[in-house]
Amino acid sequence: MPLIRLAYASEATFEAKPLEQGVEPHVARILLVSRRNNGKVGLVGGLYYGDNRFFQYLEGEEEAVRDTYQRILQDPRHRNVRTLIEEPVAERSFTNWSMKYVPASADVQAFLQKHQLPEFNPSAFDSTQCEEMIDLIRRSSQDQKLVNHDEPVRSKSPAPQTLSPGLKAGLVVAAVGLVVVLAVSATML
Ligand code: FAD
Repeated sequence: MPLIRLAYASEATFEAKPLEQGVEPHVARILLVSRRNNGKVGLVGGLYYGDNRFFQYLEGEEEAVRDTYQRILQDPRHRNVRTLIEEPVAERSFTNWSMKYVPASADVQAFLQKHQLPEFNPSAFDSTQCEEMIDLIRRSSQDQKLVNHDEPVRSKSPAPQTLSPGLKAGLVVAAVGLVVVLAVSATML
């Protein structure tokens, strides 16, 4: 089966949640599912999300890339999907990455400045800018830990304290003893 590579640009439809750190929750969910699915079908690649826009790059067997892209195209979490690259490739270049994620970084800022781009708008990238962006993602050593925001939040309150069986038995003996002492004292009055 021949290998192909594919890059596209799109606009997020969700309202980005302001975060002090970590990956935007919608993007984190997309990454978790992508890593799970892509790993199963041997897809590799990278994703960049900035200025509420996506740039994604995929490499793998033609059928797997096309099937995945069909699902991605139908995803209502983004719109105005524009295919930037779709062509055969000799080998995978994103080894070990089912979906590498590059956070907004100094590298991307430098890339935008170099090309005098006021914002991250990959739909308008020319082929040189596309290749530079792919290379930037490939070379990036940064990856943020993903938090699964769908997992139920565990309570931070401490677990209820319980008495050990030994302590319980001791208390029962002490209580019985106290009752006996009181009863004996009462008969002596
Ligand atoms: P499911 O198990 O059906 O869904 C997994 C979880 O994803 C759900 O629990 C839900 O929380 C969330 N989810 C799914 N659809 C929606 C939705 N429409 N709105 C909100 N939350 C939803 N998929 C890949 O497999 N590989 C990729 O590389 C990839 N890249 C993506 C890049 C972008 C920019 C976007 C927007 C989506 C991408 N996806 C990718 C996701 C893809 O569009 C499909 O949602 C996904 O492939 C469905 O796979 P599944 O049936 O296993 O997911």
